[in-house]
Amino acid sequence: MTPGLMQQTPLLITQIMQFAARAHGARPIVSRLIDEPLWRYDYAGLASRSAQIAKALIGLGVQAGDRVTTLAWNTHRHLELFYGVPGLGAVLHTANPRLFDEQIIYTIEHAQSVVLFFDSNFADLVARIAPQLTTVKTFIQMSDEARHQPGAVNALCYETLLAAENQTMTWPSFDENAGAFLCYTSGTTGDPKGVLYSHRAVVLHAMAAGLASAFGFTAFDVVMPCSSLYHATAWGLPFVAPICGSKLVLPGDRMDGDNLHDLIEGEGVTFTGGVPTIWTNYLAWLDRTGKTPASLKRVVIGGSAVPLAMAQRFHEAYGVEVLQIWGMTETCPLGVVATPTPALAEMGDEAMRQAIWTRQGRLQFGIELKIVTEDGQEAPMDGETSGALMVRGPWTLQRYFRQEADITDPEGWFDTGDIATLDAYGFMRITDRKKDVIKSGGEWISSIDLENVAVACPGVKVAAVIGVPHPKWEERPLLIVETHEGESVTKDQMIAFLTDRVVKWWLPDDVLFAPVPLTATGKIDKKTLRLTWSGHLSA
Ligand code: ADP
Repeated sequence: MTPGLMQQTPLLITQIMQFAARAHGARPIVSRLIDEPLWRYDYAGLASRSAQIAKALIGLGVQAGDRVTTLAWNTHRHLELFYGVPGLGAVLHTANPRLFDEQIIYTIEHAQSVVLFFDSNFADLVARIAPQLTTVKTFIQMSDEARHQPGAVNALCYETLLAAENQTMTWPSFDENAGAFLCYTSGTTGDPKGVLYSHRAVVLHAMAAGLASAFGFTAFDVVMPCSSLYHATAWGLPFVAPICGSKLVLPGDRMDGDNLHDLIEGEGVTFTGGVPTIWTNYLAWLDRTGKTPASLKRVVIGGSAVPLAMAQRFHEAYGVEVLQIWGMTETCPLGVVATPTPALAEMGDEAMRQAIWTRQGRLQFGIELKIVTEDGQEAPMDGETSGALMVRGPWTLQRYFRQEADITDPEGWFDTGDIATLDAYGFMRITDRKKDVIKSGGEWISSIDLENVAVACPGVKVAAVIGVPHPKWEERPLLIVETHEGESVTKDQMIAFLTDRVVKWWLPDDVLFAPVPLTATGKIDKKTLRLTWSGHLSA
């Protein structure tokens, strides 16, 4: 081998922030805060304040390799920690505040964090869990001085710490494989598992996500991440927007229709994204109020399957394009993105949209995908043969944090736990999670496909399908429906709606009307549903 003679610059997250400050330093960042007025600054301000908070952390004794936890919403202070903490070579553990107390404690203890930053409205939570946090030495409330309350944990004040430091910082250079973010899976099965993103993975992922085959931001875009900063780094949006020079709008903790619309309208948001629940609520709010998101062009939705009816509604009523993505905490999180291609365009506009909306997304360079059937063979790219979805690449997990062994197979493939197909257009479609597939009379029924059809029935807000044990067929589908407020749907209406749209043997054996529980990451909580309803058909 002849060694290449190009520079060996490590890919570090700090470079993104430094680049943004230099290339488009005046591009705005707007942040909603918990109980403070809207905050406005720009990428130059982000760089200065990240330096200040990093210096404050050095003053508190934080060193490279240490873990620092946040319990925080989508705000500019959280964003500053996204750059300041990894910039030092320390690791930012973004704890998920929607987990149960014991799980939050578990993740902070497992991370062995030395500092805990928290938003003001988590003060009670922090006071509750603090006695069980054995490694945290310093608590810092993310508020201004006027609203600071040290409380039982004797918390320091973010703004006081920051104000004591100057804005010049010589950021260290180190190995791009150093850990930067520690994100835990939500632990729907067993304890949460830690996924430690490296600087290299985050930077490569952000560069790929910015491509036109994925999010394709321009400097004219105004990007509002409604996916949580604590959930797989809000899908990398806090890195992609500064790379592309897009304005960034951070919605804090308020994802209700009024507040979202205020920001969309007031700040001219062109691109937003989040899990389907947020958009179910927003679309219902738009219906109720008769308002229109005039500036909005695209919404990226993932985390759970995007209901076809949701994509159609956004497009037909508001001219907003829905981009479906699939990914997981273990993939930083972007895997595939559903963007148009010439081959699909040949089908005509309408057919192309249907094709895009019914698939999770298309292959992206940097993350390899393959489907493995039950007999261990790689499935053809025919859009029909389903099997275990395996992924591999520089932003895919190799090993969970503090585990001894790699989780990948000897060739580096990671089994996602999803069942999927790949087609000749390079599009991937998830049919189910392995544990959610319904096996009926030796055949598989896709709970996702059934939910997708059911949720299109007028009046339905959320539709959840689980397989419950059945004496003859092994398992049969049970449909649990939550209706929109003030609306009612009957079992007969539901079955009639489905009868026209799915094969007969897929029809659920029963339909129940009840609130549908969601997990800490906004997905339908099938574990709880199964616990509640598993005896339903045999009863
Ligand atoms: P958790 O909620 O387990 O912490 P993740 O957010 O990492 O974790 O969940 C990843 C899983 O979410 C995927 O394996 C897949 O099952 C599901 N998922 C993500 N995006 C989609 C999508 N667009 N369609 C269907 N399922 C999806």
